[in-house]
Amino acid sequence: MRTEKNRIITIANQKGGVGKTTTAINLATALAAIGEKVLIIDLDPQGNASTGLGIDRRNRVHSSYDVLIGASTVGETAVQTAVPNLFIIPSTMDLLGLEMEIASQPDRVFRLKRSLQGAEAQAFSYILVDCPPSFNLLTMNAMAAAHSVLVPLQCEFFALEGLSQLLETVDQVRRTVNPTLDIQGIVLTMFDSRNNLAQQVVSDVRTHLGDKVYHTLIPRNVRVSEAPSYGKPAILYDLKCAGSQAYLQLASEVIQRERQRKAA
Ligand code: ADP
Ligand code: MG
Repeated sequence: MRTEKNRIITIANQKGGVGKTTTAINLATALAAIGEKVLIIDLDPQGNASTGLGIDRRNRVHSSYDVLIGASTVGETAVQTAVPNLFIIPSTMDLLGLEMEIASQPDRVFRLKRSLQGAEAQAFSYILVDCPPSFNLLTMNAMAAAHSVLVPLQCEFFALEGLSQLLETVDQVRRTVNPTLDIQGIVLTMFDSRNNLAQQVVSDVRTHLGDKVYHTLIPRNVRVSEAPSYGKPAILYDLKCAGSQAYLQLASEVIQRERQRKAA
């Protein structure tokens, strides 16, 4: 039994461009707006979550790399964003070299987990980890440290194929490094209701995965894609747009499921 108060959710999909970072930023913002204290950990060397939250590269004094190598703690590394209650551990390109640096070390998969065990991480009620688009050592660290995995799935032809690969990986993680890893949920992203194929994908994913799939569909929305270039979550950039509203709805579904899980 884990007794931690926080919920560590890894946002993963081995495909790039499916909405991981957008979901991390906007779900975190929505949870923070509801009053939760939230931390995003940017584990992608690209650093899109950090940039999208307005953390300038020059200001990334401490980063997720430092946390993973044990050079700084969560508390020392987390920076406040423009969103009240929302903090981020930014990433830098240093992460690219991490795999090589720690590959031969027996605890290489448990670096993030260890950093999140202290009291500093307990100060957050939600910790969202934004993963790179591959099953590399960074993603494995995220899966080993998490209570659950949230999967953004783009409504496109190969979605189900990618999803079954991902679910196999989660099974493998359960057998090896994290037996209690849960599927938090699957969120369908960039949905376009005018596209018949997208409708078909939604119905196929629901048939296969039932109530693991969130009711909320994140629509394809130009305001959502514009927001990061202003260093803002869509929810701050344009609260009223359909994408922002969908992420707020997703956050309330996530919280509702958490309540049900705790009551069970
Ligand atoms: P990933 O982190 O999985 O690589 P991103 O979240 O960076 O994916 O999204 C990929 C691209 O699609 C980005 O340019 C992003 O702004 C855009 N995007 C994501 N979600 C939406 C959406 N709901 N509507 C429009 N564009 C989106
Ligand atoms: Mg990303």
